Amino acid sequence: MPSHAESSQGSLAIVGLGPGKRDYMTARALKAIASANYVLGHHTYLEPLEPLLKGKTVISSSMGKEVDRAQQAIDLAKTHAVAIVSGGDAGVYGMASIVLEVLEHSGIEIEIEVIPGVTAANAAASRVGSPLSGDFAVISLSDLLTPLEIIEKRLDAIFSIGIPVVLYNPKSRGRPHNFALAVEHARKHLGEGTPIAIVKNALREDEVTIITTLKEIETHEPAIDMHTTVIIGGSESRIWRMGNNVKGIITPRGYHRKYVY
Ligand code: SAH
Repeated sequence: MPSHAESSQGSLAIVGLGPGKRDYMTARALKAIASANYVLGHHTYLEPLEPLLKGKTVISSSMGKEVDRAQQAIDLAKTHAVAIVSGGDAGVYGMASIVLEVLEHSGIEIEIEVIPGVTAANAAASRVGSPLSGDFAVISLSDLLTPLEIIEKRLDAIFSIGIPVVLYNPKSRGRPHNFALAVEHARKHLGEGTPIAIVKNALREDEVTIITTLKEIETHEPAIDMHTTVIIGGSESRIWRMGNNVKGIITPRGYHRKYVY
C-alpha cells in the first residue's frame, strides 16, 4: 500500500487560518493541516503553526510571491496532500482566488477544498461590541492590485448609503496616505460623531482597540498600521458604554422598531 504521500491521488486544501490564536481556527482547518504532507504559505502564518507541522514538508515564502506559491501548490497537489494556508479567510483578500485562477488556467483536475476562516472584519468586530449587526461593506485600501481611483469610487458609493464600512489594509509604508483619503470620503457623507473602532492585532497577542469618532480620528492615526482593521460606523451606529466606560460600538439591528426592551 503506498502511503498517502506517494499515492497518485493528490488533494489541495486552501485553508483560512483565522486571525491569529489557535483557539480561533476551525476544527476543519486543523484537520486539513494535520492530514497534509505539504504545507505552503507566507512565513508569518507558518511560524505560529510550527507545533502542527512536524514531519511535513513546509514551503514558506514571502509576500509578492503568491502566484509562484499557487503554482507550486497545484503542482504538488497532483500527487500529494497539500494545504496552502492564508490568514483570516482565504477567500477574503487571501490566496483562494489566485489558486483557483491558476488551477482553472492549467486545466488540471484535482480534489480541492476551500476551508473558511474567521476574517479580520469578524475578529475586529467581536472585540468592540456589535458594530456590524446588519448590512455592512468591506473595502481594502491596498492599491497593489486595485487602482486607487476604483477604491475611491467604491468608498464614496459605500459611505453615501450610511452602512458600517470595514477597512482592510488601512495603511502601510507603501501607502501612508490612503487612510486619510478614506476619511475624506467618509466626511462627505457621515457626521463628525460617527463612531470608529481601530482594532490592531485582533485576537492575537499585543491586541489594541481604540474607540473614537470621525471628529477625533486624526489623533489616533499613528496607531493604524498594516495589522489594523478600522470599522467606520454607519448612520445608525453608536458608542456602547457600560457605566462610565466606553466599551465599543453598537449598530442596532432594528429590534427597537418592533419591540419594547
Ligand atoms: N484574508 C485576511 C485578510 C488579508 S488582507 C482575512 O480574511 O482576515 C490583510 C489585512 O487584514 C490587514 O492589513 C488588516 O487590515 C487585516 N487583518 C488581518 N488580520 C488581522 C488581525 N488579526 N487584526 C486586525 N486586522 C487584521
